[in-house]
Amino acid sequence: MQDDVSKNENSNLSLSVTEGTGGIILSLLVAADENNVIGKDNQLPWHLPNDLKYFKNLTWAMPILMGRKTFESIGKALPGRKSIVITRNKNWQQTEVDVVYSIDEAIELAKSYDVKEIFVIGGAEIFNTAFEKAHRIYLTRIHHQFEGDVYFPVVNEKEWRLIKEHRCTKDEKNAFDHSFQVWKRK
Ligand code: NDP
Repeated sequence: MQDDVSKNENSNLSLSVTEGTGGIILSLLVAADENNVIGKDNQLPWHLPNDLKYFKNLTWAMPILMGRKTFESIGKALPGRKSIVITRNKNWQQTEVDVVYSIDEAIELAKSYDVKEIFVIGGAEIFNTAFEKAHRIYLTRIHHQFEGDVYFPVVNEKEWRLIKEHRCTKDEKNAFDHSFQVWKRK
């Protein structure tokens, strides 16, 4: 299902829409609770294997851009993806990841990979910065309220259109109802 969404919608996003990013689709990929909480104490507040699977399918072989703190909380480069870490610290280095100092630089790097889409995977600071430029949001809405200390911006229906939604009920492995949503900028 995820692949279909990606392919169909790629072809629907005209070049003029993605002009600001040189034809690359800038997508945010996030899981948020009902109050837009996305993290607490530099960790995810939940464990939802279904969402991890969705994340893996969507980002496989694609460039993923993350803030330095999110990279350090994951602790390693994710296999099978091109990890790009953004920092302001010119001395910061890691093997197995590309380092950039701005979102524009990350987009330029993605172009050199010959792909059509780059996924911003968090955290809060980089989501906030990339939000205004983003073309698409893959939002896993977790139908629960958690305590948190970092939030995703409100996805305003005046600016964003819900183009796909798949609702999943909790089961023995996934403790919370959740919905996989895809939003496209109007
Ligand atoms: P981030 O992961 O956004 O990293 C912030 C760091 O990224 C900054 O300190 C800076 O690094 C660098 N950075 C950010 N913006 C820029 C910029 N415009 N230019 C250059 N460098 C930049 O940290 P947050 O604390 O905001 O978010 C982490 C939280 O988010 C955690 O709780 C994590 O669990 C959660 N999270 C949630 C996700 C979800 O989908 N629910 C997904 C990912 C994370 P430096 O200090 O080195 O200069």
